[in-house]
Amino acid sequence: MGIDKKVWEILCSEEDIKNRLKELGKQISRDYGNKNLYIVSLLKGSFIFTADLVRELSIPVKINFMTTSSYGHGVESSGSVEIVSDINEDLTEYDILVVDDITDSGLTMKYVLDHLRKKNATSVKSCVLLDKPERRKVQLEPDYIGFTIPDKFVVGYGLNYGDYYRNIPYVFIVTDENR
Ligand code: 5GP
Repeated sequence: MGIDKKVWEILCSEEDIKNRLKELGKQISRDYGNKNLYIVSLLKGSFIFTADLVRELSIPVKINFMTTSSYGHGVESSGSVEIVSDINEDLTEYDILVVDDITDSGLTMKYVLDHLRKKNATSVKSCVLLDKPERRKVQLEPDYIGFTIPDKFVVGYGLNYGDYYRNIPYVFIVTDENR
């Protein structure tokens, strides 16, 4: 999959992300100050967001990872979500915050929230860097949102394009040169 005949347009710059993560970190630290915060980060897309977000927290936090099946190399959701790697720890005394890179159809986040709620955690909430509300297929409003964005395919800062470009430190939109 080539990206050479495409135009890159920066949507969230490094500075935008840094500033927004500071605000989110403060908000989450305030909201979870008296709680037992346990972050569940969804791989692979949220690894960079999670790493930066947790360093903006001023409260104790446990961090763990889950892997779900997602778009793979395509750009459209298959519609079915599968848990590839689960959390096997007893979660009953924790306040879970599921962290993902983006909520698009909402299928992944809804599936993971429902799955973790069955494990009887004290609370289960969601946090996403990017939200594309126009694409929603299920009713879901993430509890914490970094940026609400239009219906465009975005890449960088953990988000892939053909399993590359996750390392680009900002979020950009890919469009065809001729459009
Ligand atoms: P959903 O289940 O909400 O439709 O999609 C969740 C997953 O799809 C995200 O965690 C992400 O991996 C992938 N995804 C959704 N939209 C985009 C996008 O614009 N760009 C990239 N790179 N991945 C996306």
